[in-house]
Amino acid sequence: MSHVIPTLEAATGAEADGSIAVGGLTPLTTVDFPGRLAAVVFCQGCPWRCPYCHNPHLLRRHPRAAAKWPEVLAFLRSRTGLLDGVAFSGGEPLLQPGLGRAMAEVRLMGFQIALHTAGSGPGNLSRVLRLLQWVGFDVKAPFADYARITGVSGSGTAARESLGVLLDSGVSYEVRTTVDPTLLCSDAIRNLARDLVRLGVRRFVLQEYRPPANQPVASPETALHDQALIEWLAETFPSFEVRSATGR
Ligand code: SF4
Repeated sequence: MSHVIPTLEAATGAEADGSIAVGGLTPLTTVDFPGRLAAVVFCQGCPWRCPYCHNPHLLRRHPRAAAKWPEVLAFLRSRTGLLDGVAFSGGEPLLQPGLGRAMAEVRLMGFQIALHTAGSGPGNLSRVLRLLQWVGFDVKAPFADYARITGVSGSGTAARESLGVLLDSGVSYEVRTTVDPTLLCSDAIRNLARDLVRLGVRRFVLQEYRPPANQPVASPETALHDQALIEWLAETFPSFEVRSATGR
């Protein structure tokens, strides 16, 4: 280890602990890191409480979760040469104090790194950006209206700042928004899109809301059926896509 630690410190700013609170592992995915065969590491903890969150079991950190990180590293070592990359997802990975060091350790194994984030911590994002090949950035609402979705005041300011940091970095990305019909109407999506254009976003994806298995869709008429909106978005962004709940 003695030859590894100085390299990690140079790469990450020398965080004391490289472990992260692991909430789960997907051993193989073709959809979470574009163009790569990847594993997904799910991190525990998120400061926000979106009503449509599909990983509510990951919202709180559990004291023993960090103990699983060595198991994840052992798994990844067994996949060198077989996988192209590793995506860190959540929860909100930026909450992990050891994220940069953990990512650097995974990079040293030869993997490319993706991050799925909602941007709750712009400072933490800027510290890990140089380790990343791709970011999937979740935007919840027009930035002035974030608290209605996240339940946390100031969350829109943090998200806007994080997105600005990402766009300035030149790292490849996708900005995506989940369209829960009870929370986002066509006008809200237009306002959100105008926010994104002002920041310089070029790739935008609308994702269909997938209700939990035991709940019906609130209304079949969502903004995704608003043809005028969809055409306007396709003209507004150089790269735009509607992603179905099942198709990705
Ligand atoms: S930011 Fe993501 S992980 Fe956190 S509550 Fe919202 S949907 Fe769930």
